[in-house]
Amino acid sequence: MTSQSYPDLKLYIDGTWRKTRSDLPVINPADESILGALPRAETSDLDDALQAARQGFRIWSKTAPRRRAEVLLKAAALMRERVEEIATAITLEQGKPLTESRLEVIRGCEFFEWDAGEAQRTYGRVIPSGPGITYIVHHQPIGMVAAFSPWNFPMSQPSRKIAGALAAGCSIIIKAAEETPAGALHIAKALHDAGLPRGVFNLVFGVPAELSNYLIPQEQTRLIAFTGSTAVGKHLTEIAARNMKPVLMELGGHAPVIVCDDVDPVAAAHISVTRKARNCGQVCTSPTRFFVHQSLYDRFTEAFAERARSFAIGNGLDPSVQMGPLANSRRIDAMRALVEDATAKGARLLAGGETLGRRGYFFPVTVLADLPSDARVMREEPFGPLAVINPVASLDEAIEKANSLPFGLAAYGFTHSAENVDRLSREIDAGNVSINTLEASVAETPFGGVKDSGYGREGGAEGLSHYTQIKTVSHRIA
Ligand code: NAD
Repeated sequence: MTSQSYPDLKLYIDGTWRKTRSDLPVINPADESILGALPRAETSDLDDALQAARQGFRIWSKTAPRRRAEVLLKAAALMRERVEEIATAITLEQGKPLTESRLEVIRGCEFFEWDAGEAQRTYGRVIPSGPGITYIVHHQPIGMVAAFSPWNFPMSQPSRKIAGALAAGCSIIIKAAEETPAGALHIAKALHDAGLPRGVFNLVFGVPAELSNYLIPQEQTRLIAFTGSTAVGKHLTEIAARNMKPVLMELGGHAPVIVCDDVDPVAAAHISVTRKARNCGQVCTSPTRFFVHQSLYDRFTEAFAERARSFAIGNGLDPSVQMGPLANSRRIDAMRALVEDATAKGARLLAGGETLGRRGYFFPVTVLADLPSDARVMREEPFGPLAVINPVASLDEAIEKANSLPFGLAAYGFTHSAENVDRLSREIDAGNVSINTLEASVAETPFGGVKDSGYGREGGAEGLSHYTQIKTVSHRIA
């Protein structure tokens, strides 16, 4: 099943598939077997992609929004038809359970479908003026986009950027994740089959720093769109700033969860474990820092740890599995280091904490309680199945602690009190606040961070604005 379900990896440049030097293995994190070899883009491939994207922009920026929408909707329909094939490839390369991979494909399609609608709603405006003169504000496609997407959601992460760029009328070169290339490759296939003109969309892989260093300063690159770590996002923003390019940055988070004293602690704990385990915790919005009212603390931590210990972990292709492996061995090292540091400083380990001792990058849902504030995991995003739980005496204390880090992406609360909802909505410093749900974003809502969590918004009515530039036309009747 493995080799048949995993695609032959290629670059996609100027509407054609391209094989290049392939010396990096793509590894299945569930058993460490080799799935394929990654094709690397050399400078000559990037030059071809830039040339193609220049030509693609000329055509696509003049294509009627309705026609752009048709292509995006057709591509989404094809990916929905191919959901099993795409989801299997995602599970093989990234590890998540097949049910999650299917949901990821559907989510990616929803980004295409939403932005197809937005393509037809990039309204400008007419500014009131005296007789004989008209002022019109146009929103025009910004130009070629250089995009960089990460490995945690191989299909839905690139979908955000590709759908936004294409809906707005831009061309795009995307460097998708080298460790999980198949998700983006399937998008390329769908766009190709949907009749996207050649050159509008180009997919490359390679050495990340080499590619970004080459693509960002190019004259024709008009927007840098990146999702990944804060450190890399800041680095790319510096290169962009030196070259006067705007950026769209979706970076790290360290999501707080405030559990107020008026909720059922067991129900809140069970929802939280399920969400923590999603994608093995490798989600920038993953619920991580739990601040639980002291009156519920013991019941919440016990229920949380008990549910965490019961999670079925294994190969994501096995339908009985609830959580797959981490996506790469770097994450195992990171989990171990954070757990060791916290327990050495006095935290209580209530569940997990060590690998399963079998092949594959497995690490269980891990629960730490009563952490001192100098434990590294209280400040560093674990990006894995690690939850930290501390008691608080009041909502004031919880909000202060939630806001104490430089991150501000997603934040959550559990409460039935209208007053608490009002305070959480107003006072939490984050781009997305969710109450009694741990869902942080859907295609219809804008998503993004404040502070070190990034700049700009993807999705919603706001998402396309980054891919457009404003032109004001003043017209006097001569
Ligand atoms: P990393 O910082 O090395 O890489 C993160 C992503 O950035 C990868 O996709 C990588 O290919 C890309 N990248 C790295 N250097 C680049 C460069 N110079 N130019 C262009 N792209 C570059 O870390 P990692 O070990 O791959 O991932 C771990 C960390 O990344 C996590 O701690 C997490 O904070 C962050 N991350 C965040 C998201 C997200 O959704 N916000 C997704 C994946 C990873």
